[in-house]
Formats: sequence, structure tokens, C-alpha cells
Amino acid sequence: MDIRIGHGFDVHALAEGLRLVLCGVEIEHTKGCVAHSDGDVAIHAICDSLLGALALGDIGKLFPDTDQQYKGIDSRKLLKHVVEIVTNNGYSISNIDCTIAMQRPKLRPHIDTMRERIAEVVGIDVDRISVKATTTERLGFEGREEGVSATAVTLLIKA
Ligand code: MG
Repeated sequence: MDIRIGHGFDVHALAEGLRLVLCGVEIEHTKGCVAHSDGDVAIHAICDSLLGALALGDIGKLFPDTDQQYKGIDSRKLLKHVVEIVTNNGYSISNIDCTIAMQRPKLRPHIDTMRERIAEVVGIDVDRISVKATTTERLGFEGREEGVSATAVTLLIKA
């Protein structure tokens, strides 16, 4: 069986008055991610895990932040494109596991909606999409509410 594992990691700074979008869900908060796109750090980590499994680089290579067509873009569009690359390479996605590290706000109430949003874009069952959230116990940049980080692991199976 031809299986491949991929890992993704992303960080964005937080700033007052910006939208906070995580896994395609807009979350009410005083701060949002500073970014060229909509700043969906979780989707960016997921995209990089998919590209990593195929050793195809990262989303920075695929969608340069110097390119105006990606300004403010809904990151779900980027994910959709990455999923097409996976399919075109003859793989299907077995599961995705993503962890978001953020001190505030509490993300638990949004987790199931986030999983559903990702499942919709990726086109696999929601029980194959895991989204978890953690604080960093007020340690580091996440704990000081200066930024958000996300990691993701993906398993691909040759279709
Ligand atoms: Mg990013």
C-alpha cells in the first residue's frame, strides 16, 4: 500500500480590529490575523501538510504573497486548489488532524463547525477531520496573544 504522511505548520501575528478566520469560520474577537490572505492559519497548516506529503513545497511557493490575486483571498479556495493537486497526483486523503494554539478566545464552541467546513472543502467525511485547540498556558507568543500557530498532519493513500 502506497501511503504518505505530511506535516504542516504556520504562524500569523494578531492585530486589533482584523477578522479572525480559522478553518473557514469567522470568530468574534477583538483581534485577527495579519496576512496577505484572510489569515486562516489553520487552513494554511492543512495545505502545507497536504503539499508536504507529496513533497511539493508549501503554499508560499504555490500562492506567493506578492501576487495581488491572493490579497484577502478566502483560504478555502487555496485548500480546494491543493486538494485538486492531491487528486491529480493520484492520491486520496485518508484523514487530517489539525491543532490550533491560541490563548483567547475559547475555540471549543466552534470546533465542530470548523471540522464541517474543512470536510466540505476537502470532500471527505467529517469523522476523518480532527480540529483541536489548545492554549499555551500563557507561555510564548500565543500565550501573550501576539500570534496564533497551527500544526496539521495528513495521511494520503494512493487511489
Ligand atoms: Mg499563513
